[in-house]
Amino acid sequence: MVSRVIPVDDFDLVIFGGTGDLARRKILPGLYLRALAGQVPPDARVIGAARAENTDEEFRALVAEAIEEFVPAARRDPEAIAAFLSRLSYVAIDATGDSGWPRLKALMRPDVVQAFYFSVAPSLFGALAERLNTQNIAGPQARIVVEKPFGRDLASARALNATLAAHFDESQIYRIDHYLGKETVQNLMAVRFANILFEPLWKSEYVDHVQITVAETVGVAGRGAYYDKSGAMRDMVQNHMMQLLCLIAMEPPYHFDPNAVRDEKLKVIRALDPVPAQDIVRGQYLAGGGEGSYLADVENPASTTESYIALKVAISNWRWKGTPFYLRTGKRLRARESEIAITFREPPHSIFDDASGWKENVLVIRLQPDEGMNMKVMIKDPGPGGMRLVQVPLDMSYAEALGDAHDDAPDAYERLIMDVIRGNQTLFMRGDEVEAAWAWTDPIIEGWETRGDRPQPYDPGTSGPEDALMLMHRDGRRWREIKS
Ligand code: NAP
Repeated sequence: MVSRVIPVDDFDLVIFGGTGDLARRKILPGLYLRALAGQVPPDARVIGAARAENTDEEFRALVAEAIEEFVPAARRDPEAIAAFLSRLSYVAIDATGDSGWPRLKALMRPDVVQAFYFSVAPSLFGALAERLNTQNIAGPQARIVVEKPFGRDLASARALNATLAAHFDESQIYRIDHYLGKETVQNLMAVRFANILFEPLWKSEYVDHVQITVAETVGVAGRGAYYDKSGAMRDMVQNHMMQLLCLIAMEPPYHFDPNAVRDEKLKVIRALDPVPAQDIVRGQYLAGGGEGSYLADVENPASTTESYIALKVAISNWRWKGTPFYLRTGKRLRARESEIAITFREPPHSIFDDASGWKENVLVIRLQPDEGMNMKVMIKDPGPGGMRLVQVPLDMSYAEALGDAHDDAPDAYERLIMDVIRGNQTLFMRGDEVEAAWAWTDPIIEGWETRGDRPQPYDPGTSGPEDALMLMHRDGRRWREIKS
């Protein structure tokens, strides 16, 4: 296969929290894979920073272990690993203290791209941003990368934005939503805006409804304390699912340009209606408690946090008025599956009789597993017996269609880190976008808190609580099956 890797400019990347879980699982293996692919310039360096007193050698050993654990064997090349490790150094720094910074400054080159990845708790973002400036470390090409969660409500997101804005310009701030780095999520834009086929039908006149599903089989054991403070609405809907909804619903941007794309997403978020109580279903797996239950996993017998949520969302604009978007996401469901299904309306007049077996056209965009697209169309049922119709799939698996190019595509973190180095913010959330998403989310959460609603129970391995089925049944619609 011809390599399509485009090298990026020379850079120094500092990972605050360089010894933490995210750095070990995603950031450092991702950087190694980009280096393996030949995308990282020869002099580029990666500097880990955290409080523990590690030497460079100890940090390299930690990264070597992370590569061993999180990079597939077929891509672990001893020479490339050794070369990657030689790029690494480590500085002991407490984000809230003053030692270590002069050593970091001495390591940084002022004339290359400087990226500072804040892979630490959000409560440390302000201290880090401030010190990068007061210690004169951040040069003109500096940019910072911040991880989710970006606030837990509008007030905290605003405060976080203000803190970062005190030290960095918006054009230097990269708020990561790793969903936006997924190949298939970006494909949503390609499918919509590189094909004339769909666009004329992409409106309420022709689209009956849209379903967005992000189903997981895992529970929250092991990260229960974190998850219980958040829940499915904050953890999934406010950020990842909101981004999917925006990419489906937004107007074509005038250009594939960071601000043009983000302007259009922002307009969608601002057009979202408030969601009334009857259009929300929250669930908790085995809500009664006991072994394997959500309550046991979070070690909080009184928790009313949801591990599942389904919502009916309305967008008040010309394109989408009258087309509901049904969103659902949950833990410990029947299968791990993310997809967007666009169900089209009936033809205005059928020339076939009622018994013909007509069904709606559905366009399904699968994000995981087996990324691809599937269009359900009607054809004639073969054979005698008059004009009977049958629904058949026009199925395209990206893996089958694209072969190696698909298999070798960088994962979300790899792509997003390289975008930071390139200075391309298209796939990162802008401050106003995050605030608008919280402005829509806050009243929904406040609503159930004020009412004292408790989540509905559901059994692990199912598709969620019964009431979620009713959310669609009462509109004469059905969720697509979550297949095991
Ligand atoms: P973690 O495993 O607890 O690691 C935290 C890192 O920060 C460690 O390297 C720790 O090292 C360092 N640290 C803690 N306090 C510090 C301080 N005062 N000054 C400097 N460094 C400090 O956390 P994580 O899971 O990697 O998560 C990091 C961030 O990413 C969090 O904001 C999290 O919400 C977000 N995130 C994580 C994941 C994930 O899959 N893990 C996914 C999405 C988002 P020392 O203790 O030696 O200082």
